[in-house]
Amino acid sequence: MAMTTLDLLRKYSVPGPRYTSYPTAPYFHTGFDEAGWADALAQPAPGRGLSIYTHIPFCDSLCSYCGCNMVATRDYGKTRPYLVALEREMAATAARIDPSRPAHQLHWGGGTPTYLNPDDIRQLMAMTRRHFCIADHAEISCEIDPRDLTRAHLEALRESGFNRVSFGVQDMDPAVQQAVNRVQSAELIHQVMDWSRELGFDSINLDLIVGLPKQTVERFRRTLAQVVDWAPDRLAVFAYAHVPWMKKHQRLIRDADLPDAAARLGLQQAVNEMLGEAGYVNIGLDHFARPEDELVRAQQNKTLWRNFQGYTTHKNSDILAFGVSSISQTADVYMQNEKNLKRYQHRVGYTGFAVERGIRLSRDDQIRRDAITRVMCDMELDFASFGREWDIGVADYFADALTDLRPLADDGLVELGTGRIAVTERGRLFLRNIGMCFDRYLKDAASDKPRYSRTA
Ligand code: SF4
Repeated sequence: MAMTTLDLLRKYSVPGPRYTSYPTAPYFHTGFDEAGWADALAQPAPGRGLSIYTHIPFCDSLCSYCGCNMVATRDYGKTRPYLVALEREMAATAARIDPSRPAHQLHWGGGTPTYLNPDDIRQLMAMTRRHFCIADHAEISCEIDPRDLTRAHLEALRESGFNRVSFGVQDMDPAVQQAVNRVQSAELIHQVMDWSRELGFDSINLDLIVGLPKQTVERFRRTLAQVVDWAPDRLAVFAYAHVPWMKKHQRLIRDADLPDAAARLGLQQAVNEMLGEAGYVNIGLDHFARPEDELVRAQQNKTLWRNFQGYTTHKNSDILAFGVSSISQTADVYMQNEKNLKRYQHRVGYTGFAVERGIRLSRDDQIRRDAITRVMCDMELDFASFGREWDIGVADYFADALTDLRPLADDGLVELGTGRIAVTERGRLFLRNIGMCFDRYLKDAASDKPRYSRTA
């Protein structure tokens, strides 16, 4: 008898990566140092775009589900030395790259970037423009916590050239909001969206999370109805990653309050159904957008890409990331900054850099990264075109992956044709498991396996 989707969820719910990078962050190592990063920055990068990420770690309070690198503080004075360190890091980096390379994408994440007051928002953007050339029509976006946001913050972002905003909504149910220590009313979200529209931001994204404590399908449907009514341009619906062994504050969340596998499936089905009926297209793992959105077009044209910010249209871009814990990326290097705020500031004060760890990718890493990305973005891997691009025979090269994919094919999650791997409709819930079949590090790891959140 064929397995139900719930049976499959139970079977395939194993710890696994989200593949915003490959190799994944646990394989970055401290043998990669500042000399390695300086060398990576100095490499010519013909045909590669540039994307700038700045991490603002500060938050007023701590949400108990938080998985970000953040610092909860009410002491605004802590932003002073941080902005000084950011400027120093930007200057040191800019001095090592071709200054004429324009950035087509710029993103502030956190933490809470709008923890910064409006004057400091202007100052940080002016400092970024002093060191880097930002393209005229660059996509400039900011993650925003609606609580404590004022219209003046949004005005400062708009005047500084931001054209996209992303608001953390998560769940509108009062019981869930209490359970995760993040209370925000519908009136508040409505207000910040109205301000954003009045100020002329091109695109508004809302973030939701499924799998939070106290969530039920019935109550989450009310959140979805509310969100559809607000009509954002895009939605990101993340699965809560419960990793209390890594994020100690997640121990505040009682296991008994977390939805079980059946409830998580119901939540995901409610998301797909209600956002689908409202006209949004599901892009890969966790993004939804309007049919005319460039993300949807990129998926259709097979130019979609996946990086630390999720799905993006900017394939083949180097990411220069600034701030504590941020991760930079070039064609064959990932580099992560120091994760401790004081040490980050201290080290940048000395050398302009604060490299904590990184990895130089082998050719095999690059091939496997591309294969995982193609599957997670295009929902298929065409052997002929992929083989031409990398000059390999795909069936031979990925004989191990094809063997591992066989049971998933038997369960109807992928189709293994001659010359093509295709993710089925059912398989879209299991993209992380499909990606894992290509992951050499997971196969090689023995007892020292890193511990990821569960895939389903
Ligand atoms: S606002 Fe975001 S970064 Fe800050 S604690 Fe909450 S989830 Fe974490």
